[in-house]
Amino acid sequence: MPYSNEPDPFRTLSPAPRPAAPSPDLVMPMTEEERMREELEKGILFTTVESVVNWARSNAIWPLGFGLACCAMEMMAIAGPRFDVARFGAEVFRGSPRQADLMIVAGRVSIKMAPVVRHLYEQMSDPKWVIAMGACSSCGGVFNNYAILQGVDKVIPVDVYVPGCPPRPESLIHGIMKLQEKILTSRVEIGPVPRRAQPPRGVA
Ligand code: SF4
Repeated sequence: MPYSNEPDPFRTLSPAPRPAAPSPDLVMPMTEEERMREELEKGILFTTVESVVNWARSNAIWPLGFGLACCAMEMMAIAGPRFDVARFGAEVFRGSPRQADLMIVAGRVSIKMAPVVRHLYEQMSDPKWVIAMGACSSCGGVFNNYAILQGVDKVIPVDVYVPGCPPRPESLIHGIMKLQEKILTSRVEIGPVPRRAQPPRGVA
């Protein structure tokens, strides 16, 4: 019990009274257009088929699981929990080129290996992309000799080059993000995908 007539400072405050709802007679009736706009804003999204297809493709990249040299160690690291390329939807490394749409050329390509790399590329499903990972696959690196191909773009088309020797896993992830940007702005072809221009077979 309080000892004075002053109000108890610890008393529970009652909630403020809610304002009375306006009378239906005072509310302006919505026009047909306003009603339709309100319905649309509740959960309908307008976009184009091309944007949706590109968005789906860029966030579900399936790389081909193969490596050629030391860069492959860094490539394997992106799938682990530390770098976690699953955040970008590109962690499903496939064992078959027919189930993959991204080839990460991780390591130097020898002249003997070049026809095999091209063969694997041709077996991949369309549309497909290539990342040249590291100095060796981009331009031969320090191996400027008769046994090493001076850049994998002499046998297959390359979309993104990742510099470094070896590039860190973060660099490769950056390259994948650049590829995603490229996919998002690419055109979606209706019907069979036209074949991309490829270097002549006689180079390798
Ligand atoms: S770029 Fe460097 S790390 Fe990568 S394959 Fe060549 S020598 Fe090895």
